[in-house]
Amino acid sequence: MDGRKYDFLVVGSGAGGATLARELGKRGKEVLVVERGKREKKLGTFKDALGYFDVNRLTKTPVKSKEGVILWRTLMAGGSTVVSCGNATPCLQDELADFGFTLGKELAEAKSEMKVSPIARGLLSEGSERIMRAAEALGYEMEPMPKFIDPARCKKCGNCVLGCPHGAKWTALDYLAEAEQEGVEILYGTSIQRVLVKNGKARGVMGVGPRGQVEILSDTVILCAGGLGTPVILQHSGIEEAGKGLFVDLFVNTYGVTEGLNLMREPATALVNHEFSESRGFILSPYVNIPRMVRFMEIGPRGFTLPTRRLLGIMTKSKDEPVGQVYPDGTVSKPVTKGDWERLRGGSTIAREILDRAGVEDGSITVSRPQGCHPGGTAAVGRVVDENLQTRVDNLFVCDGSVFPTSPGMPPILTIVALAKRLAKTLAS
Ligand SMILES: Cc1cc2nc3c(=O)[nH]c(=O)nc-3n(C[C@H](O)[C@H](O)[C@H](O)COP(=O)(O)OP(=O)(O)OC[C@H]3O[C@@H](n4cnc5c(N)ncnc54)[C@H](O)[C@@H]3O)c2cc1C
Repeated sequence: MDGRKYDFLVVGSGAGGATLARELGKRGKEVLVVERGKREKKLGTFKDALGYFDVNRLTKTPVKSKEGVILWRTLMAGGSTVVSCGNATPCLQDELADFGFTLGKELAEAKSEMKVSPIARGLLSEGSERIMRAAEALGYEMEPMPKFIDPARCKKCGNCVLGCPHGAKWTALDYLAEAEQEGVEILYGTSIQRVLVKNGKARGVMGVGPRGQVEILSDTVILCAGGLGTPVILQHSGIEEAGKGLFVDLFVNTYGVTEGLNLMREPATALVNHEFSESRGFILSPYVNIPRMVRFMEIGPRGFTLPTRRLLGIMTKSKDEPVGQVYPDGTVSKPVTKGDWERLRGGSTIAREILDRAGVEDGSITVSRPQGCHPGGTAAVGRVVDENLQTRVDNLFVCDGSVFPTSPGMPPILTIVALAKRLAKTLAS
């Protein structure tokens, strides 16, 4: 790597970065991926996860916005795809089409490579079966969630969000491995701080690695450090307009205690209700944070005492307003607006109705604090990047959740992968 100049330098190895690296590598380009995190050897326990989730170093609690919204993300090879629930719904197709992104072909390619299919009924727990029947009895839909999870390898451990130790779930690490086979180089443990710009043109990056400061040269730089990481690098590179417009797809979890049903033995978020997505801005999905400590983080002491083996829950995930901001020092503001509260309360009211019908004990319903795990909008297309995903600096591109023009309120991975496939074609031509 020393002194070498690459055709393409990709910062970050998550949904956007790994896809770009693979696609550019397949087209014979010389590519270096620079990743801040490690290539983790062990996944799947709460203790493992503390090593890769973005947590406060002292308290080991997740990073929050200054208003107290929990911000879930991982800093590791593969990015947050490693801890995803494996949900695969295309999102923002119309909104992106307004900027000229027609992604039909790329989405189809991604779905086929990631082997997306609705969750197999045999993987559902009794708890989700009960929720499905309760929802149907009330006239609500509850469909099998489309997943990139191989049913033959899934051991129904329920811990998708801690990272799958069984290799059942597609993650960006799969694309990263294929990229390496094509000759793409990967530099781990190196955090990029800024892009080197000369005469209005990107010429490389500067960052800090295990042996101190590094400077890497490249004709083209693509930032894929995620909705919280990319705007920090952009602001340090003179693109001050980045960082505003943050959304996180705010969500809350509504829990209820049952006689003996739980969601412990199934892939997380196995079902989905989409019927209120357009009209009221939220989706619903059965979900319980299995580790008590995570429930403590999202609820407080009551979360710790809730009995996991007797717990049902439903997540309300919403399209939140893009009023947050990521600052140059990486701190975040994410106010929960009146409209956001309305969407979250609207969803959790229906969640409560379904849980009551499913037979949870009277007075046992608990709703978590607002949290988010789909950060984006901080380098939005039309504001910070153009319809080629290029910034106002020549040859400096962004390709991750930051470029989304608005909150999807839906799983974003598939669409980010499709955007990266499209950008790779343009860059390589
Ligand atoms: C618990 C959880 C569950 C989720 N479940 C789903 C789901 O089921 N389906 C779905 O579609 N989405 C899901 N998501 C969201 C999804 O994982 C993210 O939206 C998606 O991974 C974002 O892709 P990205 O390319 O923008 O960023 P990421 O995938 O987060 O990748 C960013 C990468 O950049 C690296 N990085 C950051 N800063 C720097 C720097 N300065 N220098 C070098 N590298 C840097 C990070 O370490 C990371 O590897 C989930 C997220 C979480 C946290």
